Amino acid sequence: MGAQGSFNPFEMARVQFDKVADLLDLDSGTRELLRSPLREYHFSIPVRMSDGNTKVFQGFRIQHNDARGPCKGGIRFHPQETVDTVRALSMWMTWKTAVVDIPLGGAKGGVICDPHSLTPQEQEAICRGYVDQIAKNIGPAIDIPAPDIMTNAQHMIWMLDEYEKILGSRFPGMITGKPVGLGGSLGRTQATGYGLVYTIREALRQLDIRPAGTRASVQGFGNVAQYAIELLERIGGKVVCVSCWDQQDSASYSFRKADGVVLDELRSITDRFGGIEKDKAKELGYEVLSGAAWLEQDVDILIPAALENQITGENVAKISTQVKVIAEGANGPTTPEADKVIHERGIFLVPDFLANAGGVTCSYFEQVQCNMNYFWEMDEVLGKLDLKMTSAFIAVSDLARKKKLYMRDAAYIIAIDRVAMACHQRGWV
Ligand code: GLU
Repeated sequence: MGAQGSFNPFEMARVQFDKVADLLDLDSGTRELLRSPLREYHFSIPVRMSDGNTKVFQGFRIQHNDARGPCKGGIRFHPQETVDTVRALSMWMTWKTAVVDIPLGGAKGGVICDPHSLTPQEQEAICRGYVDQIAKNIGPAIDIPAPDIMTNAQHMIWMLDEYEKILGSRFPGMITGKPVGLGGSLGRTQATGYGLVYTIREALRQLDIRPAGTRASVQGFGNVAQYAIELLERIGGKVVCVSCWDQQDSASYSFRKADGVVLDELRSITDRFGGIEKDKAKELGYEVLSGAAWLEQDVDILIPAALENQITGENVAKISTQVKVIAEGANGPTTPEADKVIHERGIFLVPDFLANAGGVTCSYFEQVQCNMNYFWEMDEVLGKLDLKMTSAFIAVSDLARKKKLYMRDAAYIIAIDRVAMACHQRGWV
């Protein structure tokens, strides 16, 4: 991620932005403002390790834009995290909150570390150390972190606890993705995967395809992928291939079952690093294929739900002619080169910052519930999530149809226009 070859996600985010800035004929001041983050914090987090030595971890928080409301976005723990990855992700968060029209801006955080090789105490120390460095620059009305790759509700509550100790009061709206019962929202864990499926359902509707009987192939088996598979199956779809990273082999594999993978079965053979155990999968009748195989399946729907830079100029030609929808669960999984081909082939693309906006939308609901100190039932959360995702999808697909635009460009036009308008109205540009 971020460090693969010459791939630079921030450059990619800028290429995507520039294209739409041209289409919108944005003035140079607004263009310059939105091409870069407003603020960046880079800091060191010293941690006393369990062996008694001190290790210093690098942390980042990058606030891209807060014209529409406080900055919002997750914190990732990853050994290959780079500043440019975090910059790109912060920019995508701005477009994400804008496209679903929630009153928030965009930010992202990261720590260069590998949680797989850290004890829970060391992870807790990183979380607390992260907040110690950035406490003055985050908060419910400034910038609200959330979980992302390799961070979860436990990390969030450690961070909240540290923040509240520093400030000497309770601020449940300072962070989202908290445990249910401690200011968290029901449905937050499911929200990104479910939200993704709401957009797939709408894409299929536009194409006049019934979800029942559709086949999908998924890259990733983390939080987003698992809940997407769960809901996709519930609406009648079948996931026939799942690809997953194997920590021990430092390689990925695809697991195929022609009559559909069984989610609970795969969950039960997932190792403590989140990888699927190959031998056990074989015993259960799965074909174990190369990590790249997920992209080459004869399916109706492809769901990249792992990392950025996965569908590229090199492998895009391998996408089957049967594929009708690509729904991007991950942030930035498709490079501009591959994007061009997908557009030319007429595949219906649900772009990342629309497709995976369910997480941040539910985070917003979590904040609303914290402000009221009154928490909704699951059905209420999911009903509101479906409404928000579906109306955002329809706004984007209506524009795409009317102006004969690629879905990614249509989503960008709506998002950038909203953010640019907020900047103008505030008198920034
Ligand atoms: N990390 C998630 C994302 O990339 C959620 C962010 C949030 O809830 O603030 O959208």
